[in-house]
Amino acid sequence: MKFLPAVVLATMLALSGAGDAQNLPTLGDTAREDLSPIMERKLGEQIMQSVRRDPDYMDDGPVSEYLNKLGNLMLEKRPDARGETGNDFEFFAVRDPVLNAFAFPGGFIGFHSGLILAAQTESELASVMGHEIGHVAQRHIARMIGSQKFDVLIPLASLLLGALAARSSPDAAMAVIMGGQGVAIQRQINFTREAEREADRVGFQILRDGGFDTAGMVTFFGRMQGASRNYTDVAPSYLRSHPLTSERMADIQGRMMDQRYKQRVDGLDFYLMQARVRVLQDSSTQGLMDAATFFAGQEHSEKTESKLSAEYGLAFVAYKQHDYAKAQKLLNQVVKQVEQSVRQKNMLKQTSAFASLAIDISMGNKQFDLAIKQAETAMQQLPLSRGIAYQYAEALIAANRSAEAGLFLRDQISLYRQEAGLQNLLAKSYEAQGKQALQHIALAEAYALDGALPAALQQLDIARRDPDVQYFDLSVIDAREREWKEKRREEMLDEKKKK
Ligand SMILES: [Zn+2]
Repeated sequence: MKFLPAVVLATMLALSGAGDAQNLPTLGDTAREDLSPIMERKLGEQIMQSVRRDPDYMDDGPVSEYLNKLGNLMLEKRPDARGETGNDFEFFAVRDPVLNAFAFPGGFIGFHSGLILAAQTESELASVMGHEIGHVAQRHIARMIGSQKFDVLIPLASLLLGALAARSSPDAAMAVIMGGQGVAIQRQINFTREAEREADRVGFQILRDGGFDTAGMVTFFGRMQGASRNYTDVAPSYLRSHPLTSERMADIQGRMMDQRYKQRVDGLDFYLMQARVRVLQDSSTQGLMDAATFFAGQEHSEKTESKLSAEYGLAFVAYKQHDYAKAQKLLNQVVKQVEQSVRQKNMLKQTSAFASLAIDISMGNKQFDLAIKQAETAMQQLPLSRGIAYQYAEALIAANRSAEAGLFLRDQISLYRQEAGLQNLLAKSYEAQGKQALQHIALAEAYALDGALPAALQQLDIARRDPDVQYFDLSVIDAREREWKEKRREEMLDEKKKK
């Protein structure tokens, strides 16, 4: 029950009957039988709104930046995977020890923390990523859903919400699912065999063209199969939906025959990301102690990257335990070693892992000015890091420089319109400045981006009634209200149709 995406995919399958690879429409076909790319993306975005609200969604700058960097590196070799509408992909992690990965409609690809930690090399992780990209590139999900009208898809969203609620109240959610259309779907989550082979084929090409070790595909799947024999409590459901048949293995090995073996040296960022995932996967008191024990063992590794990431992991654990002095000392040690290493020193400019932790520690120590300086330096080196941008805004607000934070955030919002987190921070900066009308307008924007229109409209009402509301704000409120009420009307029509 923990694996909600399976439920979603399963539901989609149930709605469409079966994914029949035989009658695929050709591109540009007006009477297309698959879900249109725009609808596919819309559906994916709707699902993601719920996923982002889930406490097990891993909202961590360095981790998601790493996953997206790796994913985009692979997509460069396969631009057609972005589809007719040129979708941006989004790669993300969720806290879940079960070895699994999944693709939502529209290019959203998720990885369980368990799978990320089970990968011994970047090529192994990339092999799963390539396979999932393959499913998206071949539009397997869209074909499974078929030509359903969007209002038929709306129940999916409520079903998904039920699955999400399962984390807090399993019985209630099960009732929702079992009572709905999901009854007959248990265990029918597999793509067709052809689809799996296609995804393998595309994944293999991406892996090879991306310069990864193609043997990673075989070793990783092989190890997952081994794990399924040894640890029944973390049965790798990836293998349940992707059985490693001898046929499939032979296919992959056949492709490898004409490849020269490619030794690949993984970057330190892969290991640092794993260290973070290990800590974030379970930040309970016991979980942190277990992670520390793991890192203490890993510290004795022969491999420089493993050693450095183990020390980094210990620093991160100390931070999570609020022992900022220890965290600082350990982090300094790692950074010093990285600076002195010819091979690793560029890493300081290539991953936000070091800067992010340094800023967090400064914030923990209430050294806000230092945190701001660290964030400014980091932003120059890593201008695309979303995590650092958020940390910078948070540090400015904490340092009572909310007006500056507001300017920075509005600038960010013009670049990243879809990020509700920016609007939430903007609301915080207005609150600190005592600008309540603007605070509620920003909150309204955040709710709207999260897909919660009733709450968004409520915030507009609060803003309008504020005694300090400015004439200009009122016109913004009116325009937004018209737009969202219209959108809400459409939503309600859809909901009615479904009944
Ligand atoms: Zn697959």
